[in-house]
This record gives sequence, structure tokens and C-alpha cells, in this order.
Amino acid sequence: MKKVLVVEDEYAIRDLVTLNLKLAGYEVLGAESAEHGLELYNEAPESFGIALLDIMLPGMSGLELCGLIRKENSRIGIIMLTARTQEEDKIEGLATGADDYVTKPFSIKELVARVDAIYRRISASSPASREGKKLISGDFVLDTNSRILTKNGKELNLTQVEYQIMELFFENPGVALDRDRILKAVWGKNYYGDIKIVDVNVCRLRNKIEDDSGVKHIATVWGYGYRWNA
Ligand code: CA
Repeated sequence: MKKVLVVEDEYAIRDLVTLNLKLAGYEVLGAESAEHGLELYNEAPESFGIALLDIMLPGMSGLELCGLIRKENSRIGIIMLTARTQEEDKIEGLATGADDYVTKPFSIKELVARVDAIYRRISASSPASREGKKLISGDFVLDTNSRILTKNGKELNLTQVEYQIMELFFENPGVALDRDRILKAVWGKNYYGDIKIVDVNVCRLRNKIEDDSGVKHIATVWGYGYRWNA
């Protein structure tokens, strides 16, 4: 699982990232295009822990690749690489299923730290690593052993980050959680990234768990954060 797919068309960046992730103990497979990345991924989808995807690529974009991988795999951690001018893309990337994004130019140390942070999320989720219990909240049941959320008995397909946000909500029903607390609890204490990723992940969660009639369970606490109501 300590295997990373790096898709980046700029050779110098791909090389730098690959070298440093290897030094940090990861096995790395690099690709210069989304098409080639998808090929590598499809050879052994379950073997990858993390995918690091540049957004701007010749041919298929990194966002498209992100969507394709996420559709089949809710377990893998996905981090997008984005240019500073692509603010819109960042949000879109997270909507298609990325867990995090890193803005270019980045410090390689920071990038490795972000991969480590997401990797910890993924490996914390291996069923043997914790004692299982069932958390019940209204129509929802969160099984911390299988890390599956069900609503009225129907499984909702969550990413690992979405799952961890739900776990935090379930442990704090009716409590207004500020965004910074959610960020630290889910992405880690030393997270350097942007707090907006909390909002994008919550937005995606709402699409999965709320009824079409509107927001009922994950309430926005304006200027503060979010509150779970069963
Ligand atoms: Ca590029």
C-alpha cells in the first residue's frame, strides 16, 4: 500500500517528486500523461495508497483521471497538483474526489509531508488497526471496523477523508465544530494546506447523505463551521 502513482508531464517535477518520495520510503510509479497513469493504475488498482495528479496535462486532464479513479476506488488517497492561477480547478478537483491539493511551486518537504498525512489517513483505515464499534445516529450507522456508513441500511460510498469527517460528527452530535478543528482532526495537526478543503469535502458529503429535500443533517454554523444533527 505504500505505493504512489505520480502523474506529471513536467519531467523535472516528476523526477524531483519521485526521488523524494522514494527517500521517504514510498514505492513510486511515474507517468507523463493521464492516459499512461491510468494504464499503470489499472494494472494493480488495489496496490496504490496514493495518487498524486497534476491537473494540467496533455490529453486527458488530471481532474478527469481523478474522477475515473475515484469512481472505482474510495480507499485511495488523491492529491492534486495545481498552478497558483488555477483556483477554480482546485475546487473542481476536490469535487471530483480528491482529498487534498498542493499549489505549485511547492516545497518538496511540504509535498512529502502532505503525502505522509494522507497516507496516515489511509493506513489508519486498515480494519485490523483498530477496534471496531458501531456508532448509531438517527437513520445512520457508522461501522468503525469496516469503515462503512449506512443510511436506512443502505451503504453510502465514502472516501476515507469523508469517512473520518463523519466519525468526528458522530462522536460530537449536536456540537458546533469549527472548521479548524475538523481540519486538524482529519488532515492532521501539522497540516499546511487550505481550510477550504474542509468545505469542499463537507459539500461532497452532503450530496451523498442528505435527502433531495435539502440540508438537514450537516448544518452550517455561519462563520464558524458545521454541526451534525441526526
Ligand atoms: Ca502540467
